[in-house]
Amino acid sequence: MPPTGREVLQGRVQELIDNNPVMVFSKSYCPFCVRVKELFTSMGKEYNALELDQCDDGSSIQEVLHELTGQKTVPNVFVNKKHVGGCDKTLKAYQDGSLEKLFENKISYDYDLIVIGGGSGGLACSKEAASLGKKVMVLDYVVPTPMGTSWGLGGTCVNVGCIPKKLMHQAAILGQSLKDSRKFGWEYDEQVRHNWDTMREQIQNYIGSLNWGYRVSLRDKNVRYENAYGEFVEPHKIKATNRKGKEAFYTAEKFVVATGERPRYLNIPGDKEYCITSDDLFSLPYCPGKTLVVGASYVALECAGFLAGIGMDVTVMVRSIFLRGFDQEMANRAAAYMEIHGVKFIKKFVPTSVEQLEEGTPGKLKVVAKSTESDQVIEGEYNTVLIAVGRDACTRNIGLEKIGVKINERNWKVPVNDEEQTNLPNVYAIGDILDGKLELTPVAIQAGRLLARRLYGGSTAKCDYVNVPTTVFTPMEYGCCGYSEEKAIEIYGEENLEVYHTLFWPLEWTVPSRDNNTCFAKIICNKLDNDRVIGFHVLGPNAGEITQGFGAAMKCGLTKEKLDETIGIHPTCAEVFTTMDVTKSSGGDITQKGC
Ligand code: FAD
Ligand code: NAP
Repeated sequence: MPPTGREVLQGRVQELIDNNPVMVFSKSYCPFCVRVKELFTSMGKEYNALELDQCDDGSSIQEVLHELTGQKTVPNVFVNKKHVGGCDKTLKAYQDGSLEKLFENKISYDYDLIVIGGGSGGLACSKEAASLGKKVMVLDYVVPTPMGTSWGLGGTCVNVGCIPKKLMHQAAILGQSLKDSRKFGWEYDEQVRHNWDTMREQIQNYIGSLNWGYRVSLRDKNVRYENAYGEFVEPHKIKATNRKGKEAFYTAEKFVVATGERPRYLNIPGDKEYCITSDDLFSLPYCPGKTLVVGASYVALECAGFLAGIGMDVTVMVRSIFLRGFDQEMANRAAAYMEIHGVKFIKKFVPTSVEQLEEGTPGKLKVVAKSTESDQVIEGEYNTVLIAVGRDACTRNIGLEKIGVKINERNWKVPVNDEEQTNLPNVYAIGDILDGKLELTPVAIQAGRLLARRLYGGSTAKCDYVNVPTTVFTPMEYGCCGYSEEKAIEIYGEENLEVYHTLFWPLEWTVPSRDNNTCFAKIICNKLDNDRVIGFHVLGPNAGEITQGFGAAMKCGLTKEKLDETIGIHPTCAEVFTTMDVTKSSGGDITQKGC
């Protein structure tokens, strides 16, 4: 017989009591409950409070508690599974020392901390916690892609993200430099060709050395590493399943979930069978050839940019706009540069099916797509279709719902408070799976490191998610920090902003005589706040390097006046920010005739 509703509720209450060192059944408005919670805070004890007035079945839970303890009222307090009572009894137990004694029967766990996910955030957090003297375990497991691609320790950034991406970006830049070099006097007779296999092999070798380095550093720091898939079975217990399907169970006082994201598919006929994602691209055992990239954000444009840069015939299918969420003037300029350099765009179309015409490495695929604005249907033939339409948080099959950790059902992300704590006090989350936060490696690392310091090092420093600089490598780089122009207008109103902008021509590009008036710089200043720079945007070579420094200046409260007082470094691209005097509102000429 399936359990009755009442039995399910009894089980839930018992689970809460069993799995929380301090469990307070409370009501948010009750002053006695507040007193008890303050008492535990003052004792430095972590508690889990279930606010009965805020749950749908609060009154039924109160009845179950009445049956269990004989106590009708709240707060109803349990310490280490022992019923303490209400407010008066808890205060009395505190005064006579019996409450403190209950903590001595502390539940013992296998680990102080178990981190699920050995990527950017998980590794940073686990190493920091171990260096603060804690017993730590980290689990990392890569579920192979539908094409069967898998990789080693370190997560997305190292294996299938930032690192191989930036190295392939460099391959594209070198191609351009080779072309430029003739104008600087370099003579070479050899026909210049790009060899995909050599590039892939060299990059994969480097990644292999990083994977090894991570394993060594975990061992050096005494972090136990298991190449196993982690899944919660209880709030303090996980099941770890290794590659051979062998299961093991581990308990910990605290958990950090850092499982990252994986590429989303289109769910159209042929996508999982014949298409690849960024998870496959960087270790692709053959040259992709004529490629269709679907999507128009970071991953799509960056991959399209370097593929074109190393000589592929590349088309990008764009559903709506370029780089959603970024300053649209900058995004359109970045795309325009890509177009000049050979990338084709099919705008306002989405694929509806992918069919294999020929097998091979690469084979030949037929893509059918429909317009987002009309009934028009188009077809195209490509060797490779790269789907880059976003990424889904890996939060679905790890038992979070079993232990009651809330997930945002809309995007599968995990909501946390400003200390990266989920609704379950002993479960924390960091990195790409966080709801409403940035999906960037340094953000995951910073959050993980600071979390460990707060949990085990007495620190109070929190991760600051504001004014995080970032760069899109397309391969002309677009770096930014702070607000896009659209967002700044929405928040402050156009009349309260001054936008300074200019085109610029890198000196290195003048001799090869290419791409004049394509690099662009823009700052958005808040007139209501001393012309503070609230948006920084630069499109040009090495924009990532430039943006990093200005990001630091913005953290220090950079104003237009300070920029004007700064003496530039000549001849560089970044110096344009020290001499910007044309405002957008003036409509003044911003084209550059020379450097
Ligand atoms: P991840 O690094 O993704 O790590 C999560 C790990 O957990 C993975 O190894 C995963 O396999 C593992 N895992 C998942 N579920 C389980 C489980 N149940 N049990 C055990 N292990 C599990 N960011 C930048 O800052 N700069 C860039 O230039 C940049 N380029 C990028 C390019 C691409 C193509 C992509 C896809 C991303 C890029 N990013 C970039 C984003 C960056 O990679 C992520 O923000 C970062 O890796 C997030 O770190 P994380 O710790 O949250 O997750
Ligand atoms: P994303 O930012 O979520 O963008 C998804 C793209 O796919 C958008 O262009 C979207 O178009 C399009 N799309 C979605 N569904 C589609 C569909 N059904 N058909 C066609 N197009 C569709 O995803 P992402 O590029 O994968 O990036 C994920 C995160 O990784 C980023 O937020 C970033 O933080 C991180 N990242 C960082 C870097 C870096 O730092 N340089 C590089 C890569 C990734 P619409 O605009 O129409 O929705």
